[in-house]
Amino acid sequence: MLITINTMTSLRRYLFTRPIFKLLQKTLPPMTQTESEALKAGNVWWDAQLFSGNPDWKVLRDLPAARLTQEEQNFLDNEVETLCSMLNHWEINHQLYDFPAQVWDFIKQHKFGGMTIPKQYGGLGFSNYAYSEIVMKLYSRCSSVAISVMIPNSGSAKLVLANGTEAQKNYYLPRFARGEDMPAFALSGTQAGSDAAAMPDTGIVCYGEFHGAQILGIRLNWEKRYISFSPIATILAMTFKLFDPEHLLGDKESLGVTIALIPTNTPGITLGKRHFTLDAGLQNGPNWGKDVFIPLDWIIGGQAQIGNGWKMLMKSLASGRAISLPALSAGAAKFACRHTGAYARIRKQFNQSIGQFEGVEEVLARMAGETYLLEAARCATASAVDKGHHSSVIAAIIKYHATEKSRTIITDAMDIQGGSGICLGPKNYLAHLYQVLPIGITVEGANILTRTMMIFGQGAVRCHPFIQQEMVALSNPNQEQGLSQFDAVLMQHLGLTLRNIAAGFWYGLTNACFAATPGDETTKKYYQQIKRFCTAFALVSDYALLSLGGSLKRKERISGRFADVLSHLYLASTALKHYENQGFIIEDKPLIQWACQQSLYQAQQALIAIFNLLPFSFIAWLLKKLLFPLGQPLATPDDALIPQLAAIVLNDCEARNRLTQGIYFNSIEKDVSGRIELAFKAVLEAAPIEAKITAAQRQKQLPKTTDLEKLLAAALGQNLINQQEAEIVSLADKARAAAISVDAFNPEELKNRSHHFDKHD
Ligand SMILES: Cc1cc2nc3c(=O)[nH]c(=O)nc-3n(C[C@H](O)[C@H](O)[C@H](O)COP(=O)(O)OP(=O)(O)OC[C@H]3O[C@@H](n4cnc5c(N)ncnc54)[C@H](O)[C@@H]3O)c2cc1C
Repeated sequence: MLITINTMTSLRRYLFTRPIFKLLQKTLPPMTQTESEALKAGNVWWDAQLFSGNPDWKVLRDLPAARLTQEEQNFLDNEVETLCSMLNHWEINHQLYDFPAQVWDFIKQHKFGGMTIPKQYGGLGFSNYAYSEIVMKLYSRCSSVAISVMIPNSGSAKLVLANGTEAQKNYYLPRFARGEDMPAFALSGTQAGSDAAAMPDTGIVCYGEFHGAQILGIRLNWEKRYISFSPIATILAMTFKLFDPEHLLGDKESLGVTIALIPTNTPGITLGKRHFTLDAGLQNGPNWGKDVFIPLDWIIGGQAQIGNGWKMLMKSLASGRAISLPALSAGAAKFACRHTGAYARIRKQFNQSIGQFEGVEEVLARMAGETYLLEAARCATASAVDKGHHSSVIAAIIKYHATEKSRTIITDAMDIQGGSGICLGPKNYLAHLYQVLPIGITVEGANILTRTMMIFGQGAVRCHPFIQQEMVALSNPNQEQGLSQFDAVLMQHLGLTLRNIAAGFWYGLTNACFAATPGDETTKKYYQQIKRFCTAFALVSDYALLSLGGSLKRKERISGRFADVLSHLYLASTALKHYENQGFIIEDKPLIQWACQQSLYQAQQALIAIFNLLPFSFIAWLLKKLLFPLGQPLATPDDALIPQLAAIVLNDCEARNRLTQGIYFNSIEKDVSGRIELAFKAVLEAAPIEAKITAAQRQKQLPKTTDLEKLLAAALGQNLINQQEAEIVSLADKARAAAISVDAFNPEELKNRSHHFDKHD
């Protein structure tokens, strides 16, 4: 019996596995160093479950809801609140192009640069979730300040904390936290943007003079651009390729990407010029180094970390993507929902609030639904990172979708604001968020590339239950050992594929209505659809990997759509988690329904589009019939949800407060957004009284005049309203007029503004 099993295994290996093994060894391209470093950084979490085709819901449900400590909450309620109240976005972004001195002082004094630095190194030691809440709140007040406090926290500090020597941590981290050193993280250059690994910036190991002595060090030459904080930096976290042509350190000549901390007063460095970044008062600019000589111990982590720069970058960039950019995006989205929702209630055309028109309702509903999705993903991801799940795939998903959602939401809000969104000035609360949108889209991995290269490209290897092991077996220099490893994994892989074929067909026939998942009467069907689409995704992606092999890397239209399927499944699942974390609040039911319907529909459409792009069209067609035997099950979100979602942002209700929770607002009459908040409340209070007056006008009891004073006098005269009610209507009218007013400038003021730049060379 044993002999028979062994014989069968050998036969299978020889006849079935070996030809596949050989073919894949020939067709799979070798991995670049950048790709292999990227794959080694971090770990996997819920993304791996979604990839398996059969997610274990416990992995997601066990993640605790993100919570603030008392200390973090106090910081938000006090320091962050005070900082927000000091900020005037018009002054910062259009007049000073910088922050007033007292704002910089406050930021430094309260260690905003050290929020993520542990207390032992002089920082505030906040969680990623708390950091996200703070950045979100700041962004809702002034984008430039939020981005500026992110810079020391997310770039240089993370690099030093994770990789620095103890001496570097003890010296630099407290200085970053207190703002005594302003660090700039310098990677991008003229030739190397998205393809950062192509940087021409070099360091040569050599002897040189340093503080009067001859020492072994590095002579650097670089040309960087787009570097945040560069014009005011005191330290550059400089990325370069290190070479040792004279073999002063060892046998190797090319030592790889390395990062060093370089004080900007080191001879040979030029900085100070500024890029003019979409009217944002950000300190961002180019810098150059010519024959800059530095000691070896300025390398982050010392000599031991030579050549490990790429690995370090992958880790620290992933956390920026997962935390900082979603926080900015949520700040913008919530701000737009709260204020443009209020504006739609305040602004009247054709004798009614514009928010009551079905066309505007539809846009408001989309804004609310997308904000809910964004917020759910932000909270779940920050909590996951706090629990040690550092997935580069999830980081790429949320970076892309948070910034894209905020782009949709702000653009929608601009449509609703009409001319009041377009006329720049101190009263315009939205245009600035619209102007700076492309920054989030471009930084930390530009979005097009993030979607088409990172999400599925990395996910297919990182998250797939077997691909990584198969690749390891394929690259085993011992062919027989590799074949045996490959055979074992391949059998498991085939087992999963057969399971996915059977389950995919069954779910297609039954619309997954018998699939075992968590969920209640509202949510179970969405859990079931996620499971169904996971199975379909796993099967189709296996087919794509098998049929296209290494060439899938260049088929960005396919990998982009796979990325969309995976991303929308992630977003739908975090929305369900959010709804549960918040306690299944009945008023939020339309939000969770819209969020799930929208993301699942988009996942379906992306998957359907893939079939037409796959090779061997007959097999692709068969696969589609297997998974969708009864056609496409999902449609765009139910129209009946539109008025329910719009009502959330058009009314002063708890659901509105929950949706926009965590942003800064006040009720100061002269404040840019305070006047909207005040007018909103005043208009809502006056609404029933105005309804009485309008009804009386319809019955011809009152004249149809636009002169409010006369109208109120007539209504008072006929005892239709009392004096107090007349005052409420009158106050609401004044607040409304203030809220919809826009700025106009003396032509000379505008001319003077452009004269600032006349002398530019
Ligand atoms: C405000 C601001 C702050 C910044 N701060 C810093 C900083 O502090 N430090 C730093 O080092 N850098 C910084 N950057 C640089 C930023 O990281 C780069 O702008 C970014 O990496 C993109 O590079 P690029 O602008 O040269 O665009 P390019 O690389 O030229 O890309 C242009 C377009 O092509 C797309 N693309 C490129 N390759 C592919 C591909 N293979 N597949 C599909 N699409 C592709 C991109 O998605 C993008 O849409 C900052 C940039 C800005 C605007």
